Amino acid sequence: MTRDLPIRWAGIVEESVVDGPGLRAVVFFQGCPHRCPGCHNPETWDEQGGHLHTVGQVWEYIQDHPLLRGITLSGGEPFCQPAAGAELARLAKDKGWEVMVYTGYLWEELVQNPQPQVRELLKLTDILVDGPFILAQRDLGLKFRGSGNQRLINVPASLVASRPVLWEGDDDGLV
Ligand code: SF4
Repeated sequence: MTRDLPIRWAGIVEESVVDGPGLRAVVFFQGCPHRCPGCHNPETWDEQGGHLHTVGQVWEYIQDHPLLRGITLSGGEPFCQPAAGAELARLAKDKGWEVMVYTGYLWEELVQNPQPQVRELLKLTDILVDGPFILAQRDLGLKFRGSGNQRLINVPASLVASRPVLWEGDDDGLV
């Protein structure tokens, strides 16, 4: 049962308007290898920290909110737990939600990763915010991201084009 997959997570925000377009639930994954100076969530770095549950248990926290239109997987680094991330994304897709994922990896690194679960999570993602947080490029005016190097990527279009296509939706539009 894929809902029995383990997931190490740091926290859940049941309703957020700042972690992607519209009202969405946010799951913060625990564990991050990137160690970006200036990171806002350094408590998520420890791979042995946070809480260890199943994907099904985490999903129970968020599935009964009818006004939500999407889920955001943040961190920590969701792509360090790609099977759990993909299963959460699949559950969200089954509800008709869109999926947004924050990662410290670059798009170019993820598409070359040989793990099938990484590919699976990418295929279930609508919007990807990629790249590490770079303190010298910090910009509070950016939408949904912290530093100017990070990109908002339209994943379905990028997979078709085999290159990163930027997401150009607005707060009301899906990709
Ligand atoms: S990738 Fe994100 S969570 Fe990880 S260290 Fe960088 S800013 Fe922090």
